[in-house]
Amino acid sequence: MQKTILWEIVPLNQPTITKNCSKCSTKCTFITTGNFRINANQSKVDVWLIYQCRKCKTTWNMSILSRVNPTSIPPDLYRKFLCNDEELARKYAFDANIHAQNNVNLDYEEVEYEVSGDIIRLTDLNESIQVQLRSNYPMDIRVDKILSRKLGISRSSIKRLGLCGKIIINNEKEIWKTTLCNDLIITILP
Ligand SMILES: [Zn+2]
Repeated sequence: MQKTILWEIVPLNQPTITKNCSKCSTKCTFITTGNFRINANQSKVDVWLIYQCRKCKTTWNMSILSRVNPTSIPPDLYRKFLCNDEELARKYAFDANIHAQNNVNLDYEEVEYEVSGDIIRLTDLNESIQVQLRSNYPMDIRVDKILSRKLGISRSSIKRLGLCGKIIINNEKEIWKTTLCNDLIITILP
């Protein structure tokens, strides 16, 4: 049976957003504080994720829940909002849909990441191997960058191996044009 290994892409920080800062009076980079703000009054609850201008620390609240009935929020989720659950805050910080609803775009430029899983040495490869890519967070990373890092060869070498059919990706796209998404399987031939 063909050997399959898993590479998991783990972000080390979070995407930023660029928007007008009222205090700086110009477009600025805002970073997530990882904190939620909750406003609960009688029958309605609002929840925001708080961002901060990198320069002047002015805050901006990104709406997550707006005027919802408190009973409609699962207690476990509400508890996580209250205690600024790190993983939940990270999940929202990567959520492009919520950002779009707030009229801001995510900028992945500064996101750094680790790729866990075995390194492959092409020179030691004597049979084909499958690599499955997995990420719990959507990230705008080119697959050839990940391969370059894990195989220890340049991106131009990855492209050449792709053209020669030595590296094949299951989405039928060209490997050097593919960005990270789940369910990507890469076959590497000796
Ligand atoms: Zn500012």
